[in-house]
Amino acid sequence: MFKHEIPNTPVHDTPPPLIEISGSHREMGRQFGEAAPQQVQHSVANAQILISSAYDTLELSWEGTRIQSRKYLPFAEERYPQYVDELRGISEGANVSFDDVVVLNAMEAVTMDALHLTRCTSMAVNEERTADGHVLAAHNEDWIPEDEGDVLVISARPETEPPFLAMTYGGLLPNVGFNAYGIAQLIDSVYPSDPRIGMPRLVVARAVLASRRISGAIGRTLIPHRAAGYNHLLIHESGEMYSIEVSARKFEILYADDGYMVHTNHYLDPKMKEIEKDPEELLSSRVRYFRAGRLLRQNQKHTIKSLQAIQKDHVNIPNSICNHAIEGLDPLDREKTINAMVMDLTAREMHIAWGNPCRNAYHTFHLNA
Ligand SMILES: [Zn+2]
Repeated sequence: MFKHEIPNTPVHDTPPPLIEISGSHREMGRQFGEAAPQQVQHSVANAQILISSAYDTLELSWEGTRIQSRKYLPFAEERYPQYVDELRGISEGANVSFDDVVVLNAMEAVTMDALHLTRCTSMAVNEERTADGHVLAAHNEDWIPEDEGDVLVISARPETEPPFLAMTYGGLLPNVGFNAYGIAQLIDSVYPSDPRIGMPRLVVARAVLASRRISGAIGRTLIPHRAAGYNHLLIHESGEMYSIEVSARKFEILYADDGYMVHTNHYLDPKMKEIEKDPEELLSSRVRYFRAGRLLRQNQKHTIKSLQAIQKDHVNIPNSICNHAIEGLDPLDREKTINAMVMDLTAREMHIAWGNPCRNAYHTFHLNA
């Protein structure tokens, strides 16, 4: 039945909107909000629907969600006031309440991952494994289909931090992308059993984009008082590649010895596995991990095109690397790939397909630093 047409797979006739922002963090946030008010407002409306549809599990009203989210804010205010300023700017520019923007950026923490929503696939190959000696990083962003229309590309020139190019959607702080210092970050949700009220992980990940050295980027994933953690796949233009598996209180650092790296949504390090919540629910993450690894090993020398081919892979559909939400197949499985990116760190370019990459063309954006 999947040979021809896969249902619920929108086709986008244009590239995702590019938003260019610069100046102070407050100004950048405001420019973001002013350029994409519908997208920000729409993502707030989607979050409200999501929270109310999960009422049986979470027992949270929207007002309750706002109150819970505000508990995370002081940790961000203390360490990274500049990114809280970006959130303030987004709320001002898009004309939504600041509390609602805070909810969007702390929602994964507030829902304690009860919704098990994020499933992404990240890969990287360095100069040893590419035909042209470039360093390439690839990421499929899997999220609820309702937010697919809100995908944005952000080109930022902060006053006092490195310029960066990143993807985001709705009112989320950008975090998957690369900066002018040749550092790229891909993030994948992981499910530690030690979450606490602390620094929201989206703020942690936003701060990584301001790193000037790879050790600094690693350090930024490990700041104190974290609420939980992501896997941060960090790639330097020199070909150094790390996966930093983070939880609220623990971390492990994995290194790419063979010129390539893959990460999905389960911990790989044995010590981190000990604190993984509900590993039985992460089987499709394991399938995507092994599948992507095998496909990467099938080519000694990769290109942007060969990575894009892996991003379109449909083995284990709908929970494939190219993730689809097929109604009726599994009522709890509402996720799909809402964009897929290949970043050429050497050329400072991002090639992004808006929606499922099996149906949508890639568009190229440059970091003009
Ligand atoms: Zn597909």
